[in-house]
Amino acid sequence: MSSLPIPTVQTAALIENPGPNASVVVRDSVPVAKPGPNEILVKLEYSGVCGSEIRALNGWGVYNPIVGHEGVGTVVQAGDDVGSSLLGQRVGVKWLYSACGDAAGVPACSACCRGFANNCSRQTNTGRHVPGTLQQYVLADARFVTTNFPPTLPSEVVAPLLCAGLTMMGAVGKVDAHVASLNESANEDVWVVVSGSGGGLGHIGVQLASAAKAGRYKVIAIDHGEAKKQLSLESGAHNFIDYTGGDDEVERQVKALTGEGAHAVIVVSGAEAAFRTAPRLVRNMGVIVTVGLPAADFMLPVSAALCSARSLTVTGVAVGTEDQMTQLLALAAEGKVTPKVEVRTLADVPGIIEGLRTDKVTGRIVVKIPE
Ligand SMILES: [Zn+2]
Ligand SMILES: [Zn+2]
Repeated sequence: MSSLPIPTVQTAALIENPGPNASVVVRDSVPVAKPGPNEILVKLEYSGVCGSEIRALNGWGVYNPIVGHEGVGTVVQAGDDVGSSLLGQRVGVKWLYSACGDAAGVPACSACCRGFANNCSRQTNTGRHVPGTLQQYVLADARFVTTNFPPTLPSEVVAPLLCAGLTMMGAVGKVDAHVASLNESANEDVWVVVSGSGGGLGHIGVQLASAAKAGRYKVIAIDHGEAKKQLSLESGAHNFIDYTGGDDEVERQVKALTGEGAHAVIVVSGAEAAFRTAPRLVRNMGVIVTVGLPAADFMLPVSAALCSARSLTVTGVAVGTEDQMTQLLALAAEGKVTPKVEVRTLADVPGIIEGLRTDKVTGRIVVKIPE
């Protein structure tokens, strides 16, 4: 247990008035919640700030005013039915707040039954259905927090793994499954485009894909500007292409490297232009993996006829499984995944979210939560 008493109010960052006139404010009189059934109260130490939070800012869906879904902290209180085993433990609070898997008397959905609680049709999410991690004390469902971190991993490094890293584990896993189906010879290079390679998710995706399959994947990173170029190349990308050259130029460069186009294109960016370009970069029988979250009414710009004629696969990914989380933490502990982290303060959150909205953030910004 924490030696300090739990306060009744705390500091939090809130999104107010979502939509064109949205603002992000930091307030210091936000009530601290009490854990109910299955719940624990976590005193947060760090929280990552994910690019997907601009959906809440723009009003693209209904979110809690307190967003954030990459929280690391210590359990300071547990609901009556939870028991005391988690008290004092370091835990990770993720986008998946709860899934239907353990609901008493109700059969679990097919995704949960197959071990993919991240695709549960009845899931609830941190920062959406319940307040998120951009506050000092967050409620979490004890059944879905991540525990047992490698002790050598600092909390500010764990934070971006909880959404950014896990999502890219999910995305590279989709590429692996597709490539396994292609019947390529084992010594053939497999070209993987990561579009949006210099952001919080993208650079971890470049690291994971470059390290996968004993280096068999050659990663072409696409993003904009010198900082993102450097991070993409440091993360293991074989080549970097700046998208500001335009679609035709990006396609020309990808084809020059790959011949027919890439085997897989992972669209990490939420920018509509990245989705428009993707079908031009993938070879016949290739796969487009969507990760980014543009506005809900934006449709994928690939014709049904083209999908049929070229035998394209389009698939999406929503974070990853707890097994993938465990594998990712092990990779990080071995130094094979090294998120680029910039630590800032909770007071900086308004500027951080503005930086994400205008695509100015390289790597991941993690907020140190005040004690
Ligand atoms: Zn996220
Ligand atoms: Zn389910």
